[in-house]
Amino acid sequence: MAGNLAGSHFGKLAVFGGTFDPVHCGHLALVEAARQQFDLEAVVWVPTYRPPHKGDRVVAPFWRRLEMVEIAIGPRSEFRVSAVEGERSGPSFAIDTLEALQQRYRAERWYWIVGSDAVQFLPRWVGIEILVRRCEWIVAPRAPDAGAERAEAVARQLQQRQLNWRWHPLDWTPLPISSSDVRRACRRGKTLEDSVPSSVADYLKKFRLYEDSP
Ligand code: ATP
Repeated sequence: MAGNLAGSHFGKLAVFGGTFDPVHCGHLALVEAARQQFDLEAVVWVPTYRPPHKGDRVVAPFWRRLEMVEIAIGPRSEFRVSAVEGERSGPSFAIDTLEALQQRYRAERWYWIVGSDAVQFLPRWVGIEILVRRCEWIVAPRAPDAGAERAEAVARQLQQRQLNWRWHPLDWTPLPISSSDVRRACRRGKTLEDSVPSSVADYLKKFRLYEDSP
């Protein structure tokens, strides 16, 4: 576990899971917007070891992706990175992650941050019936017109299973950045401009990451 939040007691604590292959400015901006809007005391970034939905598409090793998140968030005390998913073998299920984090941290209210493209898969997540009880959900629109509709559809699907999904839209201007775009730019030797923090751009260059990515 990077950083030392263990044993601390929080008011509002959010989990932000992702492949972060690599972390980019869209991730950073949405977490900062969520922190401010929902008055989050801390956000734990959780790089996924092996995302169940991305299969072999993950390119960089877990520890590289973890290191890039550490570099990107810097020494801010309200942001932490957790290696919890690297400590288990097999696919990374959110429910296992939440249980591991809830053993380490105490909080009055737990939140889970998710982008509007990922939210549609929620009804199929392993353990979703427990996750919806334990967390409130912050849904970040990924394009100006996407978000609320998808989230409402998810809420309806879960309602049919008697699950009360508590979700909140993130009010922000979506940044059109994706890890896929960053990997493509690296492969083509293009400058990364404002899509990743300069510290991450330096790291990508130094270790020549994604230059041969598929
Ligand atoms: P890839 O392009 O490889 O699919 P990605 O950019 O979607 O990657 P992930 O690490 O898979 O990055 O995303 C982690 C979480 O952040 C997901 O919930 C995703 O929906 C969300 N997210 C990523 N980028 C954005 C963005 N620009 N706007 C809103 N949400 C985002």
